[in-house]
Amino acid sequence: MKSKSVNWTHLITLEPKLQDLRESITPQPDTPPECTYYVWAQEVKPRLRELVGWFRAQSHPILSSPEAYGLAAEVLRDAVPACPEDCTH
Ligand SMILES: [Zn+2]
Repeated sequence: MKSKSVNWTHLITLEPKLQDLRESITPQPDTPPECTYYVWAQEVKPRLRELVGWFRAQSHPILSSPEAYGLAAEVLRDAVPACPEDCTH
C-alpha cells in the first residue's frame, strides 16, 4: 500500500461512482466468466480513467492524482473475477 494519504474509503466518499464501478464488476451467478484481462481493459479501465487520474475531466486535488489512480486501479483489479479455467489469453 502506498504511503500517500489516499485510501479507498476516502476515494469513494469523494467519487461515489468508483464504488458503483466496483460493484458493477461483481460476477453474476448466471453469466459465464469472462477473461480478466478483457474485463479490465474493455470495461473497467476506460471508466476508471474518467473518474480518477490525469484523464479525469474535472480536476480535483486528490482524485486527479496518480496516487488515487494507482489505488483505485489496485482495488478494482482485485475485484475483477478470475479468468475461466480454459481461458487462453
Ligand atoms: Zn483470461
